[in-house]
Amino acid sequence: MRRKIRLAFFVRSAESVPCPCCEKLLIVIGSRHRLWYQSSGGRLILIIRRLRCESCFKIHHELPDMLVPYKRYDAEIIEGVLNEPPRRDIAVDESTLSRWKLWFFMWVVYAQGCLQSISIRFNLSVENSSDRPQSALQLLGQFVGTADGWMSRTVQPIANSHRWRHTRSAFMSTFI
Ligand SMILES: [Zn+2]
Repeated sequence: MRRKIRLAFFVRSAESVPCPCCEKLLIVIGSRHRLWYQSSGGRLILIIRRLRCESCFKIHHELPDMLVPYKRYDAEIIEGVLNEPPRRDIAVDESTLSRWKLWFFMWVVYAQGCLQSISIRFNLSVENSSDRPQSALQLLGQFVGTADGWMSRTVQPIANSHRWRHTRSAFMSTFI
């Protein structure tokens, strides 16, 4: 069996990031470990700062660009699996693959709604298409494009604006 090397990395933003809810100052109140499964098969432990807003008291965690909340594999791997056609060189078992596809199918409409409201709030341009988008990817593509990195470009603004929903409980009640 291949030996896995585990290393700890501290994740810190270069600049101080304001609270995504009220834009006031965030203070560091601790950290937590986060496992990162890489496409190479390696695993790393990241140490992520836990931050609290001094005004609205909401708790935030710094999310590195390459991660998706609540997922151990990084955004690049998940994106590769969901791409059309999908990447074939990713060492992930079948049940994880079907879980991601199901998650994406359920999540994409919510994600599109989030990107829509973020683009309105910040007055961002959206690619206008006269045709109705055909696939889930094209739905998101209107906002973030479909070039490499679309998963990360979708996840970051949603997580940073505190709109991320942990959907596991919703899935469970739908499929029991
Ligand atoms: Zn706040």
